[in-house]
Amino acid sequence: MNSSQLKYDIWIKNAHILSMDAAFTEFVETNILIKDGKIAHIGSVENLGPINADYLIDASHMILLPPFFNAHNHAAMSLFRGLRNDVPLMTWLQEYIWPAEKKYINAKNVRLGTLLSGIEMIRSGTNLFADMYFFEDEVAQASIELGMRCILGEAILDFPTPNQKTPTEGIHYTRNLYYKYRDESLVSLSISAHAPYTCSTSVLKSISEVSKDLKIPSTIHVSETSREVEESLKTHGKTPVEYLNDLGFFDFHTICYHCIHLSDHDIEILKEKEVSVITLPNSNMQLASGITPIPKLLDSEICLGLGTDGAASNNNMSLLRDMQMMIKLQKLSHLDSTILNAKTALSIATSNGAKSYKMQNSLGSIEIGKSADIQFINIDSPHMQPLYNPYAQIVYSMQESDVKHLLINGRFVMKDRIILNADEEKIIYEAMSFARKLNIG
Ligand SMILES: [Zn+2]
Repeated sequence: MNSSQLKYDIWIKNAHILSMDAAFTEFVETNILIKDGKIAHIGSVENLGPINADYLIDASHMILLPPFFNAHNHAAMSLFRGLRNDVPLMTWLQEYIWPAEKKYINAKNVRLGTLLSGIEMIRSGTNLFADMYFFEDEVAQASIELGMRCILGEAILDFPTPNQKTPTEGIHYTRNLYYKYRDESLVSLSISAHAPYTCSTSVLKSISEVSKDLKIPSTIHVSETSREVEESLKTHGKTPVEYLNDLGFFDFHTICYHCIHLSDHDIEILKEKEVSVITLPNSNMQLASGITPIPKLLDSEICLGLGTDGAASNNNMSLLRDMQMMIKLQKLSHLDSTILNAKTALSIATSNGAKSYKMQNSLGSIEIGKSADIQFINIDSPHMQPLYNPYAQIVYSMQESDVKHLLINGRFVMKDRIILNADEEKIIYEAMSFARKLNIG
């Protein structure tokens, strides 16, 4: 190699990029150079001199987009996909999900369920999932094995979980995870309170203290159902958001999931405390929980991300599908086709997700200096042509199978639809075997 040549890991040519940066910059027929897991250059390479790259990829007939950021799920619940649907929320939980979790959720099965979900997420263009479940150490290991990113959140509740006898054990476990993974580039930590109605005031306060101490976000399900709000008003004389705020839960970086049944005062609190909100439209539709007031939240400049929730209530892990449902659900419920546009929907599914976890300096958009996380979307199929507006095409026309390659941290985890770091066939077979043995009767 000539000493004047710069050495890169990957050179992407003929790239049509929707960067999803703050100005929605779009590049056509351009180049991306990747080095040490980061985007080193975007644009013409004419003035760079001879380029030496280990790997050259031609991105003609593709759109390059930051991957989808799945800002809330319970990955291992994919093992209970379709176990029971079409029943009320409490029946679903009490008669099916909780008994199944009690009997079958252990370290081995969490790893299997996370691998199954992880493959599904990679196949649908997702680079990161924020998890809330049990045995999160296994979630981290499965995620690293696949080469994808995760934000761990061991679910902490007042009552025993499959992994913890007490909430104190759950907090201790989270601290250990933090020290174990703090230097691992693919893994981040959160501390997860399940919900205001499943954690006592003192447990919520302890979780908030750990969040401040370790400088990791706290996460919690909030105001998912009208019943939750009614019971909070009865018990505390306050809405769940008011209650959490009054006990100081929002004093450090907090991310709230669902936030469907919100008063105007709740929205003022969320804005003032800079709480991020994650909407989960597919799960909310299926469990008939309600509709997150997205336009009001966006008008209040509250950071809003998007998640799938668990596959037991979705029933899939494709954030693309949730984005497509989210935008149409908002249009229909407001009887206003202008209430949310494709660009905004796409930013909620990508850059806003990263902002909601304060990871925007490295993730969420294709920009020089950020992590080399890119999904390559094939536009050669009939449903992707003709192409007038790439944002609209992705939001309204794209299918999961259009994701041709997925690059995470400068490494391909899927190439030409082949999962590179796991034995997909074996994992599907093991999930089938799990279901055959399942008996909660
Ligand atoms: Zn959830």
